[in-house]
Parts: sequence; structure tokens; C-alpha cells
Amino acid sequence: MKITKLSARLLKIAQKVPQGSRLADIGSDHALLPAYLVGNGTVPAAIAGEVNDGPLEAARKQVGAEGLERQISVRKGDGLAVIEPNEVDVVTIAGMGGALIVKILSAEPQKLEGVGRLVLQPNVGEDLVRRWLLDHDWFLLDEEILEEDGKIYEILTAVRAADAQRQNAELYGANPLPECGISMTRERLLYMGPYLLRQGDEAFVSKWHQELDKLQHICRTLQRSETEESRSKEREFRHKMKEIEEVLQCLQKDKP
Ligand code: SAM
Repeated sequence: MKITKLSARLLKIAQKVPQGSRLADIGSDHALLPAYLVGNGTVPAAIAGEVNDGPLEAARKQVGAEGLERQISVRKGDGLAVIEPNEVDVVTIAGMGGALIVKILSAEPQKLEGVGRLVLQPNVGEDLVRRWLLDHDWFLLDEEILEEDGKIYEILTAVRAADAQRQNAELYGANPLPECGISMTRERLLYMGPYLLRQGDEAFVSKWHQELDKLQHICRTLQRSETEESRSKEREFRHKMKEIEEVLQCLQKDKP
């Protein structure tokens, strides 16, 4: 069987799907992820969900071209509407904003019955996704960050665990950078990622340098306005910048 070629980003997501899972890929577009995972034998069958006609058609074409119609069910629908409770064990949602991912996860909670693992790759708003996972007692199992074609992506894997609350309390109660003596609030961990902070990858450092530049730019724009609201926003952003700078300085110190 021909194995679909994936980008580095989709490949990393694919690696988070355990062998033998029943998978639903929501917002599947060309269904590349399910086609790859079925093609290489990781999953026996999968659902590719799409809400828009163009990508839905692209998914059907891809599945047809690879002769995978019997293993991959391409379904039209909004978010989790394409699955039944207990139909799958793993849900992947990749390549959309964090706010949309959270909206999809929140819209039909009963559809997540039986799902033991979520692999989520928000393009922006990763903190919203971490917060949703925490609030809904999903344990954040791991985080990865990578740069591909000049873009930086984060992949968050969460699992249902009987003691998710205790595990999350430990994860978000710990300081991933104890050597630097900076206070690690839950907010900062949600914003930057508890594992990513500890790992301090090159892509992580690049991402936060870029974020600092964006915040600096916003602050300069806000300075042109004299309203109290602008001052308050500017204070908020300056505080964020200080937190990011502290982390970057700490990671810099680690370097030989
Ligand atoms: N998941 C693929 C990836 O990571 O390469 C495709 C990402 S593509 C940028 C986002 C896809 O999500 C689009 O094809 C879009 O039609 C689909 N989408 C957006 N909102 C959706 C929703 N509520 N339910 C299902 N699919 C959705």
C-alpha cells in the first residue's frame, strides 16, 4: 500500500496516535493524516470530518486515490457532529485557531465519551486550549514545538486519567525553571506551556522572540492613544513582555 507523504508537522501529530486506535480527524481537509495512519498500519480505520465542501471533496478524492474508502469514512459535519459517543478513542484537531478548537470540543461534550486521547495543534491561542483541557480534567501528557517553512507549531497531547486533577495540579504547581528564581504562575504556564518551558527548544525561543516583537509593536501603537483603556492594555502587555523576557534570559543562561 502506498504511504501518504506528510509534512513534519502532520508527521509529529501522527506519532502521537497510539497503535490500534480508532481515530477521528476533525477538520481533516485532504484527509492526509488518516490516510497516512491507515496506510502505515497504525490505525485499522478512521473518520475524516469536514464542515466545508471544498476540503470535504479533497478528502474524498485523496481517500479514493489511495483506495482507502473501506477504512476511512469521510463525513460532512461541524466538529464532533461527525462521530457517535464511544465510536473513537482518539480525536485529532489540527491547523486551526485555539478558540475554534475549544468551540468544537465544547459544543458536544457527550461525543467525547470513550475518547481517551486528544491530539491538538492550534495555530494560535494555545493557552485557550491548555485552559480548556485543565478546566475539563484532561491531563496534559506532553507538548511539542516545531518550526516548518518559517512557521512555528505547538502540538498538545492530552489524556483522560482517573487522577487527572491531581496530575494537573502537580504539573501546573511545579516550577519548570527552578534555577532562575522567577515565580511561575499558573497563568504563565498556561500561556507558555509547562513542558515547553522546561524543554526550552530552539523553536520555543524563536516563537517567544517573535511574540515579544509583536507585543512591542502593539505597545508602540497603544502609546499613541491617551485613553485609560489603552494605558491599562499597555500595562498588561508590558507585564507579559517582562514575563517572556525573564524566561528567555533564563533559557539563555542554560546555554554553554
Ligand atoms: N487538519 C488539517 C491539517 O492540520 O493540515 C487541515 C487544517 S485546515 C487549515 C483546517 C480545516 O478545518 C479546514 O479544512 C476547514 O474546512 C476545517 N474546519 C474548520 N472548522 C471546522 C469545524 N467546525 N468542523 C469541521 N471542520 C472544520
